[in-house]
Amino acid sequence: MTFSRYIADRVLEIPRSGIRDFFEVVQTMTDVISLGIGEPDYVTPWRIREAAIFAMEKGKTGYTSNLGTPKLRQAVASYIQRRYNITYDPHSEILVSVGVSEALDLALRALLNPGDEVIYHEPSYVSYNPSVLLCYGKPVPVRTSVEQEFRVLAEDIDRVITPCSKALLLSFPTNPTGGTIPAADLEPIADLCRRRDMIVLSDEIYSELVYDGAEHTSIASFPGMKERTILLNGCSKSYAMTGFRVGYACAPGPIIEAMMKVHQYAIMCASNVSQEAAVEALENCQNEVVTMRSDYERRRNFIVNRLNEIGLPCHTPRGAFYAFPSITPTGLKSKDFSLQLLTSKRVAVVPGSAFGNSGEGYVRCCFATGMDKLKEAMDRIEKFVGELGRS
Ligand code: PLP
Repeated sequence: MTFSRYIADRVLEIPRSGIRDFFEVVQTMTDVISLGIGEPDYVTPWRIREAAIFAMEKGKTGYTSNLGTPKLRQAVASYIQRRYNITYDPHSEILVSVGVSEALDLALRALLNPGDEVIYHEPSYVSYNPSVLLCYGKPVPVRTSVEQEFRVLAEDIDRVITPCSKALLLSFPTNPTGGTIPAADLEPIADLCRRRDMIVLSDEIYSELVYDGAEHTSIASFPGMKERTILLNGCSKSYAMTGFRVGYACAPGPIIEAMMKVHQYAIMCASNVSQEAAVEALENCQNEVVTMRSDYERRRNFIVNRLNEIGLPCHTPRGAFYAFPSITPTGLKSKDFSLQLLTSKRVAVVPGSAFGNSGEGYVRCCFATGMDKLKEAMDRIEKFVGELGRS
């Protein structure tokens, strides 16, 4: 039976995630140190787990409001006000989703007509391009470079705008580069979006993971931008809660209403227990966030130093938990580098090409991994690169 005739063309045309394929191979191997998956190595802080247990004890096991529990929407509103100085109405401007992943999909499905263009910066999170395609949109990547610390510039965005450009998808701090964007560089982008009447999807999932004492600024905080921004954030990375699957979108009421229509028919609501846990995270866990952040910063300093010592030039990521070293000195393509490193030294990194064409020449190393493992991984990479040099 030829199943492809039953499967929608747009799904057939989308390749499987390069990361997933790679990690299926990793799972069949032993003694691998994985710097691959973008996930905190911490277990969720105890008080959050306890809130989830308590929620179950109290029997909070049913559906919630489609938008999310009033308590969590209020907690999100207070958190965003406190941390990023933007005011959202918890009754009409916040929707709780199953991770940022779902919120992104809802936003794209709510906004896009066939052929609408979505501009995004690249290298970028693996989901952006396929998510736009699955919504019949046209993804338009803008290349960013190490020379600009992987920041996207207003003039580069301006250059690709056409009458079909509907949305700009920003993601700072960035997965996989660790790039951040200072307020001074966001301002001309905000200005451009207002002038060219574009809506912004701002994925700020790494907003708590900004280093060197810097502060994260949301584009929604600029004058006139709250009205044209869908701010996406969640608990996965900041609170080590990937498995709880809680994200949220903050946006003008009519946009939330449109997203809610898709959400209520596709998903209904995020898990009740997870929402209770998320309230605890947002209201009471800033100390835990600070501790994890300073630990990540220590690991970042270590891994960036070591990669540069090894001869793989690595810029200093200012946010998220990824180092993105150049592998061009080895003469290998990123996929070959990653496969050879995996088979010969049992270290898993992600080929930069998984993040778009502009990621070629790099690999992503997640440093949300214990220091002892990071040290061993760097020693193994050093040996690997040394042996390449001799062969
Ligand atoms: N956005 C970015 C930039 C990410 O790196 C990830 C996960 O790696 C996600 C969204 C998905 O997050 P969630 O677990 O909230 O669905």
